Amino acid sequence: MKTKNIARSILSAGMLAVLGLAFGLAAMAQAPTAHKTENVIVVMIDGLRWQEVFRGTDAELLGKPGPEALGDAKERAALAEKHYVRSTPAERRQALMPFLWSVMATEGQIFGNRDLGSDSQVTNGLNFSYPGYSETLTGFADPRVHSNDNVPNPNVTVFEWLNDKPAFNGKVAAFGAWNVFNGIFNRERCGFPVNAGYDPLTAMPATPELKLLNELKSETVRIWPDEPFDPLPFHTAIEYMKAEKPRLLFIGLGETDDWAHTGTYPEYLNAAHLGDSYLRQLWDLVQSIPEYHDKTTLIVLPDHGRGEGALWTSHGVKIPESKQTWMAFLGPDTAALGERKAANPVTESQIAATLAALLGEDYHAAVPKSGAPIADVLGK
Ligand SMILES: [Zn+2]
Repeated sequence: MKTKNIARSILSAGMLAVLGLAFGLAAMAQAPTAHKTENVIVVMIDGLRWQEVFRGTDAELLGKPGPEALGDAKERAALAEKHYVRSTPAERRQALMPFLWSVMATEGQIFGNRDLGSDSQVTNGLNFSYPGYSETLTGFADPRVHSNDNVPNPNVTVFEWLNDKPAFNGKVAAFGAWNVFNGIFNRERCGFPVNAGYDPLTAMPATPELKLLNELKSETVRIWPDEPFDPLPFHTAIEYMKAEKPRLLFIGLGETDDWAHTGTYPEYLNAAHLGDSYLRQLWDLVQSIPEYHDKTTLIVLPDHGRGEGALWTSHGVKIPESKQTWMAFLGPDTAALGERKAANPVTESQIAATLAALLGEDYHAAVPKSGAPIADVLGK
């Protein structure tokens, strides 16, 4: 009996080991890519050029501060000079975007400095907003997406694709200054809250802060009919984030592009600086909320670039260099490679699959025409 039992035990142990190995292999084959990211926040800063991001303020452009949009243009240029102009490009960019350079570009990665052989661009060939956002959010350029008209996107964004999955359903939200985000995300179809333009946010219980934000949206002077100043959508998104803790959050800032189109360089710089301070606020909030702490990736990029020199105010098909963008990543899965030098070129069409991969989902397999995930930011 004893011998038999021992033999049986050995047999069982051996079988268990074989079974265990088989189960282990099966589990490995099915396991999503190892990742620590459980939440992704995408911040897009409309038309902020790589030139200011990597070289800082262009003192020559500041010498032509543009129209008297907000009082004395020369006085405003002098203030901007004091705040942002330093003797070296490294000091200038640090002064303009201190969070980007002291945190994102040291603990994460930033692509797009042509001076160091790193390229980042849109592939849509149009170099303006709706096609840029759509390319970024769907993962591909579509010739049907060829205007800035506020029309429903015929394509599904990676936000909508993820919201259709049980793990993300009800955990996705988008906030933007520009009212055309309603079209870009296809608000009527997408199934998650999209709050854009001057619309009040009604998708969550009203807090005193939200009530005030909704009132300010309604009452503040409207310089641009299609978008309020950035503080309104930003702080609205923050209220939502605190209350609902979305796993996938989009925030679209617009003032950089608006001020650039009006040719007011000091205000364009101030908008970039404000956007940077919002990144810091977001990151501080992330670290203070257990659901986000150490398991959230922040992705920051514009929707297109702008022209060089006197053409800095504009962008589009006729300004080929306005396809040039930049992109920054910060989170638990992204190795701290910092400012990328001589890196493989990256495109905005890779963002959708990259953010999905960070969340353990294979968007590129589901939508093969989307750009492949950016491997460099996916694993430490
Ligand atoms: Zn734009």
